[in-house]
Amino acid sequence: MLEKSFRNFLIAVKEKKTVKKALFLTVLQSFALSGQLMAQESPIFPKGKVATVDNHTGTVWLSELSKSDDVFDFNLAHATFAPGAKLDWHIHPGGQILLITEGTGYYQEKGKSVQIVHKGDVLKCTPGVAHWHGAAPDSTFAYIAVSPTQKGETKWLQRVTDEEYHSADPRQSKKSTDKQ
Ligand code: MN
Repeated sequence: MLEKSFRNFLIAVKEKKTVKKALFLTVLQSFALSGQLMAQESPIFPKGKVATVDNHTGTVWLSELSKSDDVFDFNLAHATFAPGAKLDWHIHPGGQILLITEGTGYYQEKGKSVQIVHKGDVLKCTPGVAHWHGAAPDSTFAYIAVSPTQKGETKWLQRVTDEEYHSADPRQSKKSTDKQ
């Protein structure tokens, strides 16, 4: 009799241990999962403030990372674009390098076709050449801009037209080729 209840007691302890182990694993798994989700959702740098200057269409957030000084003569900024948001045509006298950190975007230099760029791409905007960059219509887009300052500030030009923007869309390009 005593032996039986002792055996039952042992089984109960074992079951309790199994339940505890299962609980522990579940908690561990959810931590790992939330870590993964957070890694996907939170950008490396703060999104910054919504840009209020009249040099773009759509919503653009800007976060200054490092300002040009006596030692480092370039600005570092992180820019985030809502889907479809884009800068106007502009020129950097000293050029600019864009390190794409998120999403898919468009880049076009005057006289060339629109280039589709993705997270991980590095873009060199040639000094003195008019160009624009922004998000693809269905994707947020972000980059770190390295902007040399010794040759002067960015010159802002005209807005990007709908035709220019949508020329990156393969369906649009097909349509325009069909017409010819
Ligand atoms: Mn630029």
